[in-house]
Amino acid sequence: MMKIAVLRGDGIGPEVIDSALIVFDAITSKYGHQFELIDGKIGGIAIDEVGTPLPDDTVSVCEEVDAILFGAVGGPKWDSVDFEIRPESAILSIRKKLDLFVNIRPVIVYDCLNAMSPLKDTILKNVELVILRELTGGLYFSEPKKRWVTQENIRYGVDTLEYSEVEIERILRVGFEIARSRRKKLTSVDKANVMESSKLWRQVANELASEYKDVQLEHLYMDNMAMQLITNPANYDVIVTENTFGDILSDEAAVISGSLGLLPSASLSIDSGFKSKNMTYKGLYEPIHGSAPDIVGKGIANPIATILSVAMMFRYSFGLVTEANTIEKAVSNVVLQGKRTQDIADNQSNFVSTLEMAKSIVLEIASIDES
Ligand code: NAD
Repeated sequence: MMKIAVLRGDGIGPEVIDSALIVFDAITSKYGHQFELIDGKIGGIAIDEVGTPLPDDTVSVCEEVDAILFGAVGGPKWDSVDFEIRPESAILSIRKKLDLFVNIRPVIVYDCLNAMSPLKDTILKNVELVILRELTGGLYFSEPKKRWVTQENIRYGVDTLEYSEVEIERILRVGFEIARSRRKKLTSVDKANVMESSKLWRQVANELASEYKDVQLEHLYMDNMAMQLITNPANYDVIVTENTFGDILSDEAAVISGSLGLLPSASLSIDSGFKSKNMTYKGLYEPIHGSAPDIVGKGIANPIATILSVAMMFRYSFGLVTEANTIEKAVSNVVLQGKRTQDIADNQSNFVSTLEMAKSIVLEIASIDES
């Protein structure tokens, strides 16, 4: 039986995961699937209960399963603990341990929510892009990474940005493959004007381009990309970049849609090549937002990002494309019908709760005939 680890984590993590599981149940009963769900502790709650943000038995569960559904970790309660044992370090460790090197973040714009976006309607027209971020290398992991004080009592800090051509090639290949299945345009983002790792990145991209002649490859410097993303987002299809640039760009892209509560993500481990169709991968699926301590326990968190992460899980880890499409269509219909959680409500006295949003999506799933 297919297995899924469920890591609720902290803050609104449990709220959005429990709502997404209602949708998950609706899909599995509609299409007659059976999965084994295994709970695991992660983040602040794991620190409180067992003294570490990523207990060994959670790692074992994650190694054993086909997919991981993750809520969020962190919160003010744990802000003062050392970084190595902070809740957020657990998510970095799990990515590294499972070699989840590709992070896929689609940017979804619902026309009826344009008013929520800080961008003008004209800029939002025809935006349909996906950001691929390298997730297990670069600045966040390379050594040396340390701080020290000199004899003259001057403090120093260093991080290292190192990539091998192997790491670069495998993420770029995913980019080319995904672009091939979409509008056939791949934008590779770097700082090849100043950084050696970026020069290698660009060289490898150009070498690979000869294998993907049907895909148009373009290169943009990171600073230009940051500007283009908010001035001309409709111009982009698939954007691929290294870890730190991807971290920044994907958060910037998130505001385009109007709320952090809307966007899903998938982080995949791919050991024998990526194909956008008919293959499955081990993956971790999570909303792009954090634990939102300011709204925890109020029942107002938007569960859509997590529900759409479940759709990505069906697509990438189980090859269940119809099931994924059904969830995405149900979410889109419910949003179109005017159901709003507080973060996307234009009338602040009229919005639905986290659970009500999930139940509306379940009702919609029942009426969708996708087979
Ligand atoms: P955040 O994403 O938690 O919240 C930012 C803002 O967006 C808040 O106002 C919040 O209320 C709102 N928001 C977020 N998700 C929402 C949702 N589903 N529905 C409605 N509103 C939503 O970011 P932050 O405040 O910078 O971080 C809070 C904590 O989360 C920190 O401890 C941070 O380290 C952690 N964090 C964890 C992850 C992760 O687990 N992957 C990611 C980012 C931040």
